[in-house]
Amino acid sequence: MSLSDALKLMPRRGLLDGPTAVQRLHRIEDALGSSLNGVRIYVKRDDLMSLGGGGNKLRKLEFLLGDAAAAGADTILATGGRQSNFTRLAAAAAARLGLTCEVVLSPLVPRNGDEYDRNGNILLDDLFGARIHHLPAGVNSTGFAQERFEELRLAGRTAYMATLGGSSPVGSLGYAACALEIQAQAKDLDIDFAAVVVPNGSSGTHAGLVAGYRALGLDTTRVQAYSVLAPVASATSTTVERANAALSLLGFEASLNSNDVSISGDQLGAGYGVSTPAMVDAVRLMASREGLLLDPVYGGKAFAGLLAEISAGRYAAGESVLFIMTGGIPGLYAYASDFLGAGHENPA
Ligand SMILES: *Cc1c(COP(=O)(O)O)cnc(C)c1O
Repeated sequence: MSLSDALKLMPRRGLLDGPTAVQRLHRIEDALGSSLNGVRIYVKRDDLMSLGGGGNKLRKLEFLLGDAAAAGADTILATGGRQSNFTRLAAAAAARLGLTCEVVLSPLVPRNGDEYDRNGNILLDDLFGARIHHLPAGVNSTGFAQERFEELRLAGRTAYMATLGGSSPVGSLGYAACALEIQAQAKDLDIDFAAVVVPNGSSGTHAGLVAGYRALGLDTTRVQAYSVLAPVASATSTTVERANAALSLLGFEASLNSNDVSISGDQLGAGYGVSTPAMVDAVRLMASREGLLLDPVYGGKAFAGLLAEISAGRYAAGESVLFIMTGGIPGLYAYASDFLGAGHENPA
């Protein structure tokens, strides 16, 4: 069976407006000058979706909420960090579909104060009507969500558990479907992308793309990820495991191993949600040269990685790379002080 036909068998709730745009970054190419080495940089605008501020989690939620509907769920239980883009978009999608949403938020990042705790995504969780459970450090969020699931069941409700940034095998299907979308767009544009570049956090985005590439018979190592959460070895094994699980779900052979995924740990810095100077520069470059926004936790680090590898000569002159802009823009507001206090000089 083709990937396209296999995906059609999976329950799905439409949350996107159609394929997201692919655009070339001419102004950044100009700004990079000789360090561009003649590479063409394109972005896929997964930050540009009408629902809830958009972002990669909406692709996962199409399949997660399809699964939830098939299970007769009336409540979505989503877990994440306090500035989770996943819980924000789960809350928005639940609002759109007329479901109740409860979000379980954990302190995963060493930041606090109003800028971080009452702003950005957490403000939007509240506006989208989600009930927010704040967990103290050290409490297992999946365990808490399971208890809450049981409480809701006893109260006559049917909850659906959406944990791990939506990176379950079902959630990862969103990016297997995106691989198909990228293949069609590349054909339309007549471009053979040397790399498709993504951040790797909870790994479902990367895993879904790799599963999609494998199902399409394409080279899975052309999907280049930058870890923003786990060390490379564990990010690699998580990604392989999730990609194989997604392939099984679709009825394909689950034969991927660690040589089939390409992950760099160069941009992780001090860890998840901790800013790096290269991230700050990458966010500023994209904003000041293109008028586009990257987020500080994921896209800023991954784009910094792409720029570093382009200037190191990884890609040949004339090759095209596709960077997936995964959204997360509300997170910028929770990191304002890292940008404004950075004593930055604008790249002229
Ligand atoms: C969650 C997230 C990612 C990473 O996706 P994973 O599937 O968790 O690896 C990248 N960018 C943004 C903006 C995100 O919210």
